[in-house]
Amino acid sequence: MSTPRYAGVATFMRTPLVRDPSKLDIALIGVPFDGGVENRPGQRHGPRQIRNMSSLIRTIHHVTRLNPYELCRVADMGDVPIANAFHLEASHADITEFYRKVHAAGAVPLSAGGDHSISLPILRAIAADRPVGMVHIDAHTDTCDEELGSRYTHGTPFRRALEEELLDPKRTVQIGIRGAQNSEEGWTFSLESGMRVIFIEEFTKLGVEAVIAEARRVVGDGPTYISFDVDSLDPAFAPGTGTPEVGGMTTIEAQALLRGLRGLNLVGGDVVEVSPPFDPSGNTALVAATMMYEILCVLAEAVARRKKSRERAA
Ligand code: MN
Ligand code: MN
Repeated sequence: MSTPRYAGVATFMRTPLVRDPSKLDIALIGVPFDGGVENRPGQRHGPRQIRNMSSLIRTIHHVTRLNPYELCRVADMGDVPIANAFHLEASHADITEFYRKVHAAGAVPLSAGGDHSISLPILRAIAADRPVGMVHIDAHTDTCDEELGSRYTHGTPFRRALEEELLDPKRTVQIGIRGAQNSEEGWTFSLESGMRVIFIEEFTKLGVEAVIAEARRVVGDGPTYISFDVDSLDPAFAPGTGTPEVGGMTTIEAQALLRGLRGLNLVGGDVVEVSPPFDPSGNTALVAATMMYEILCVLAEAVARRKKSRERAA
């Protein structure tokens, strides 16, 4: 942090580039893949632009006074190499392969997408041994069965994750859901599977603090993943995304919500769906980098706490 923030090679939050996950507690990873979008593309450019805008983020959180870099070894691991970019399922296999190595080395991943389909291959690596709970912040449930003839798209990852027993629906909460659909399928599937679905109207009515309490009740103290789709935010704050939906969260609400997940047993997170070609001001990427930092702070506390209790047990 000794060089000026505008200088040097861009990495997530200006952390060092470290390719070996065994040297890390938390690995910041880019997933430049948008082969799963059914509308506006460009999310493959997300990681690079988020890295650039994340150079604006400093270290000590203004509310918690927490410095995640003092709690954990955090670094940028670079991007997942996608060897088969024209083949969606092979690309997903490339992603899973990369995260398996990260997981086996004991590092916890915090990722920048990429479209939302990337959460499925990530969960295949980190939830292979037991299903996880999830706090999913999004305008969409992403639990459709198929889109445009494919079962693997950015609108289906959590239906597949459920079928593959990577996700515990009883410990999953979806927050910020809204926008007209041509079919009620996703909403119905989420509700019938036992997920807690908080539409934006309920979010507004309850207020952030009550939503935090409800999310904490749903996920409990089991392993929990955070998945943040930038289209959960109102397009006034995050226009650079594939499927914007008017009437969303404000940035300060989303920050408070993420910060409210402090103390949970967090095992990873992602921020997805930033599309720089639709983001001429760069603000969507700055917002995404800021949400990544909020997740990093609560994740660093969780990772440090587990590390300490393992040391005490040894
Ligand atoms: Mn999504
Ligand atoms: Mn969405």
